[in-house]
Amino acid sequence: SLLMGLFGNNLISCFLYKVLLQVQNQLLDYGGSGMSVMEMSHRGATYLKIHEDVIKRCRDILKVPDNYKILLMPGGGTGQFSAVAMNLMGKTGCADYAVTGAWSAKAFKEAQKYGKANLVFPKAEKFTTIPNQSEWKLDPNASYVYYCDNETVDGVEFNFIPETNGVPIVCDMSSNFMSRPVDVSKFGVIYAGAQKNVGPAGITVVIVREDLIGHALPFTPSILDYAATAKDNSIANTPPTFCIYVMGQVFEWLQRKGGIEGMAKHSQEKSQLIYKAIEDSKGFYFCPVDAKCRSRMNVPFRITANVDYEKEFLEKAEKQGMMQLKGHRSVGGIRASLYNAVTLENTETLAKFMREFYESKN
Ligand code: PMP
Repeated sequence: SLLMGLFGNNLISCFLYKVLLQVQNQLLDYGGSGMSVMEMSHRGATYLKIHEDVIKRCRDILKVPDNYKILLMPGGGTGQFSAVAMNLMGKTGCADYAVTGAWSAKAFKEAQKYGKANLVFPKAEKFTTIPNQSEWKLDPNASYVYYCDNETVDGVEFNFIPETNGVPIVCDMSSNFMSRPVDVSKFGVIYAGAQKNVGPAGITVVIVREDLIGHALPFTPSILDYAATAKDNSIANTPPTFCIYVMGQVFEWLQRKGGIEGMAKHSQEKSQLIYKAIEDSKGFYFCPVDAKCRSRMNVPFRITANVDYEKEFLEKAEKQGMMQLKGHRSVGGIRASLYNAVTLENTETLAKFMREFYESKN
């Protein structure tokens, strides 16, 4: 299902139904061009217009300041683990990493290939919290400070922007991109793989402050080089045109749905419904994450009363059309991902199901 909707096979209830329908309507003939977007030359006027429009919408939605470039890059979030280090590490040869979950841990590991990557606090065995900034040890000489705004596997989300005394901040927003307003001017680089909140897998949005462009390590492949990408407006080679086009449709939908403020309100309401269902179960459902950094996007929880209950929960949920609730393979358990495409109605159905399941066991 596109965008990892919780209700994958129940399109009518899925917010993105309208987007998918529009894509279907335009599939054979985009805007009277007589062609599908996927048939078009990436240098032709019709595609170039789509490309520009997508970047402009992204800028409008996030109020990206003029001194930032918006790049569309290949390689997903994982590609940026390398790209960030290759593009920025060269300044001083070292960088600071706040590891708060599985994805920042991967980024930290990758960065070690390109320079000295420091942990700003010791790596936890289990990721359930974000240490207060007073416990962070930042290196004033670091080229950048890296963190992941929302840890998708662990359900740990930042609700503050760290103070770094002028050291540029690099932030992985792959799994909470465009789910709340963000002061872009506080960041050096923000990046996000499209596939959670804004489009099909295959494209990564990278928002980068201009002064950080052009300092890549000499061996950086051009395809991951911010300067080369910016110079050709993200068409240095053939971009995934169809993905980018669909992302544009999602942006348009998001703007219609109240923009970034609308998404923020919506994700707050949705996640509260699920956390409340957990709280109300008096320990039957258990979320290991500290209350101060519980994610609005990914709600992981366990049922420990009986070893078979989680399996039964997932099977029953799936029979009722609630798909993809299984926790990440590395941690197990259950995880409700409440990406932008999931509706309040969908979430109410899940909360109701959680209550019913709990009551049937008590
Ligand atoms: N960062 C985060 C926060 C993620 O959730 C993911 C993937 N789920 C990645 C990075 C890696 O992204 P990709 O699969 O696009 O390489």
